[in-house]
Amino acid sequence: MSQPRMSQPLSHPALSAADPELAALVGAEEQLQADTLRLIPSENYVSAAVLEATGTVLQNKYSEGYAGRRYYEGQQNIDQVETLAVERAKAVFGVEHANVQPYSGSPANLAAYLAFAEPGDTVLGMALPMGGHLTHGWGVSATGTWFRGVQYGVRPDTALIDFDEVRDLARKERPKIIFCGGTAVPRTIDFAAFGEIAREVDAVLVADIAHIAGLIAGGAHPSPVPHADVISTTTHKTLRGPRGAMLMSRASHAKAVDKAVFPGLQGGPHNHTTAAIAVALREAAAPSFRDYAHAVVANAKALAEALLARGYDLVSGGTDNHLVLIDLTSKEVPGKVAAKALDRAGIVVNYNTVPFDPRKPFDPSGIRIGTPSLTSRGLGTDRMPLVAEWIDRSVQAAAKGDEDALTVIRGEVAELMAAYPAPGLPTA
Ligand SMILES: *Cc1c(COP(=O)(O)O)cnc(C)c1O
Repeated sequence: MSQPRMSQPLSHPALSAADPELAALVGAEEQLQADTLRLIPSENYVSAAVLEATGTVLQNKYSEGYAGRRYYEGQQNIDQVETLAVERAKAVFGVEHANVQPYSGSPANLAAYLAFAEPGDTVLGMALPMGGHLTHGWGVSATGTWFRGVQYGVRPDTALIDFDEVRDLARKERPKIIFCGGTAVPRTIDFAAFGEIAREVDAVLVADIAHIAGLIAGGAHPSPVPHADVISTTTHKTLRGPRGAMLMSRASHAKAVDKAVFPGLQGGPHNHTTAAIAVALREAAAPSFRDYAHAVVANAKALAEALLARGYDLVSGGTDNHLVLIDLTSKEVPGKVAAKALDRAGIVVNYNTVPFDPRKPFDPSGIRIGTPSLTSRGLGTDRMPLVAEWIDRSVQAAAKGDEDALTVIRGEVAELMAAYPAPGLPTA
């Protein structure tokens, strides 16, 4: 592990005075986020306003319950904060009900189980190695041990969701809940097709839009409304808010959702997070957010094109959203080796399984990249050929064990990123 830089961060005077060791780590992380090209599709840069909201005295409060029905006094301001967040969520996503209290995406999904299934019930979700999330009933997750997870995948020829398989499984297994959405799905989710299947078998359809919530808010991906019964989302990925989550639903499911989150699963809400969610949703309602959402997709498509031109195999052949899944099999570089080399070159990605991966999950064939962070810094499609070139040179350097080449790329990356200041980071 590299040592934190010794220069003191300018932006956290109290922290620097009280705990220089921790402050130095925060400063080093600020430097890392400034200097590197961050391509993790679930990450982003929040605005300075969102960051400030998370650091407020709102975090000092306990507020079990919901606005107007709390178990604690002193909620004059907190009730208004939460109501703002709820009303903004309803407006941005066009939903009848929103619960902004889930601590993160995984607990939000667990609350959906609690609301609509009993332990041992069958749930249908996308298999993790096909692009689904752990919490969609995968075996190592509580959702796959306390419930009976049945999993669908993608077609081997197209890498697209196989709706014949989904329908057949739903008819045969009669799941209580069907999950759609995922963590490594580069294509548009057909919410209408899932909705039709869920209605046919009388299942609750949960659209987990954690990755694409910002694209939906900005009109760059179709909305799950009115096809889904419940919408689950994180707030910190493309939506560009604080780490947190929301559950949204029709009015008819409002009670079940609220009861599951509190008192079913959680205690007091994180009010500083609620405030930052409200700020992020205000930002998401602004016209500039539509530009951002469409730019994220345009960048991903341009990056995919540039990688294809360099001979890379992309799962499903490209992308409709913010995410590109590269299958490195033909390059003869394992995903993990490539990801670690890219990291040394200042390009941050994660290694990832590809559908029907012959390699092990901890040493898979692919890497997963995405464009939310670079778009938030203002990079446009004109820069994507260069990004593809850096990825290609890094993968080639990884194959040859050429550390010097990675160091050269790291310098080039830092130089370009300096021209695109990141939101929320100190510029000094
Ligand atoms: C990220 C993600 C989650 C989990 O969110 P955490 O906040 O990490 O718990 C759930 N579902 C999907 C589809 C995700 O991408």
